[in-house]
Amino acid sequence: MPGGTPIPNRYIRSNLKSHRILWEEEHPCRWPFMKILRETSSLKEFYPEINPYVEAYKVRDNVWALFQESMDGAGDLWMYVIDGPEKVMLVDTGFGVGDLKGLVQHLVKSRDKEIIAANTHHHYDHAYGNAQFDKCYCHKDEEYSMRLRAMSPTIWDYLFDESGKNIYTQFDRADIIPYKEYELIPVPTGHIFDLGDGYEVEAVPLRGHSAGQCAYLDRRNHILFAGDITGVGGGYGADPAADNCNVETLWRDMQAVAARLDEIESIFPGHGCWDVTSSILRFELDALNRIMEAPEGNADGTRLFRRNGEEVRMFTMNIHQGTAVRYNLEHVYRKTPYQR
Ligand SMILES: [Zn+2]
Repeated sequence: MPGGTPIPNRYIRSNLKSHRILWEEEHPCRWPFMKILRETSSLKEFYPEINPYVEAYKVRDNVWALFQESMDGAGDLWMYVIDGPEKVMLVDTGFGVGDLKGLVQHLVKSRDKEIIAANTHHHYDHAYGNAQFDKCYCHKDEEYSMRLRAMSPTIWDYLFDESGKNIYTQFDRADIIPYKEYELIPVPTGHIFDLGDGYEVEAVPLRGHSAGQCAYLDRRNHILFAGDITGVGGGYGADPAADNCNVETLWRDMQAVAARLDEIESIFPGHGCWDVTSSILRFELDALNRIMEAPEGNADGTRLFRRNGEEVRMFTMNIHQGTAVRYNLEHVYRKTPYQR
């Protein structure tokens, strides 16, 4: 979503080749985390000669969080690398600006290990780097959206005006790794990615933000890479899974995850603060309970947005120790039966 103008006292020092032109202020619980991490943390690794658009943070012995600025005015994003015994898993692929594959190979010190690229969902900031890989995985309910919105050489055009100038974020168009066809492999709920030597990562759907938005559970580190789980809506007409884009689906998926909290120590989402205690999922479930009970009456906030010439009223429900769930009244309850 295009933002406003930079707020000078919210500036974060950066050596990235990208520079944001338009942005919105980060949620107040995210900004201090990002400021301290990016300006002062010794976890940070930066290899501009390989990829000047991504900062890497080593968060476990075999896990990195990769930071990239948003290229389209929305929130800055996180991708994640898990270096397994035989294979590497990459959760999300960012905007596709800069050599992501080369950076992953550099971090894991191998050009031979297979990289399993898996998307939490199809949005620009999570899947536009897919073409740097021969195949990419996603949840089966995300297949339609992925093919419709993330698999074409024209996906980056919206970032530039008629004269070819960057609209939201300054970066060199020549640094987009050119699109090529790749194989999309949809997987069912509970699918296990085997990184070798019994190292398992499980596909755990947390749908609602998109039809097949999926988290990935690193069973060895007890980390859940959650993706985007605080905004609900969207969905494309002809998509057989479009009815997942609502609060109810996220609420039901979240109940299933909350029942397994003893398997999860830490949450690493697609945006904002990471290495957050898994109780945040219970606090989010609490917010979802309150929405399901009275979507309008219980809301903590409301704001009018213009979308395609129409006014849409968005509501927010605050999450204890977190940000907030955003939704509108057309995307609360399911119209068809819930399916895992
Ligand atoms: Zn998203």
